[in-house]
Amino acid sequence: MQHHTMLEVISRRAIEERVAALGRQISQDYTGGDLVLMAVLGGAFVFAADLCRSITIDCCIDFVRVASYGAGTASTGSIRLVQAPALEVSGRDILVVEDIVDTGLTLQWLLQYFHQQKAGSVRLCTLVDKKERRQVPLEADYVGFTLNHGFLVGYSLDFAERYRNLPAIYTLQDAAS
Ligand code: 5GP
Repeated sequence: MQHHTMLEVISRRAIEERVAALGRQISQDYTGGDLVLMAVLGGAFVFAADLCRSITIDCCIDFVRVASYGAGTASTGSIRLVQAPALEVSGRDILVVEDIVDTGLTLQWLLQYFHQQKAGSVRLCTLVDKKERRQVPLEADYVGFTLNHGFLVGYSLDFAERYRNLPAIYTLQDAAS
């Protein structure tokens, strides 16, 4: 198995502090609402697990999985839903919890999907916002960190399904980005 050289870019401590702050903000903003955290598998499962525990209001948690056709490290924009939400979406306040917004194509597709499902409101919370390669004008409502360079792994971000278990976020020094 190949081992990659990694550089830590966001520490475990920095992630904890930022996720706690996001949780406080989301709790304030959704007080009195019908919040459903909609985590996008598999890259956001650790983020969603920590975020939901920093949210102090009543909420539900559900999961979707999408696949983008084509190979490589950037999305092609051709998206399909591999796992649909289990919960009723109609009329509810959907907060999509994503790992990274890069080109924005995946999220644009997902936001449209939840609008079509007649969600009461649809917003986006992303752990990392990478604005440099954005192809559609999409702004996340809640952003953990803004980072433009490198291919990130750790904290459920993978490279070929590896490194999701690392507690901090790293850039791979020897992988294409
Ligand atoms: P996009 O916004 O380009 O449609 O796609 C975003 C998705 O591409 C993310 O959810 C993530 O799965 C993947 N992605 C983009 N940049 C990175 C990165 O630096 N590291 C990892 N592991 N995945 C990335």
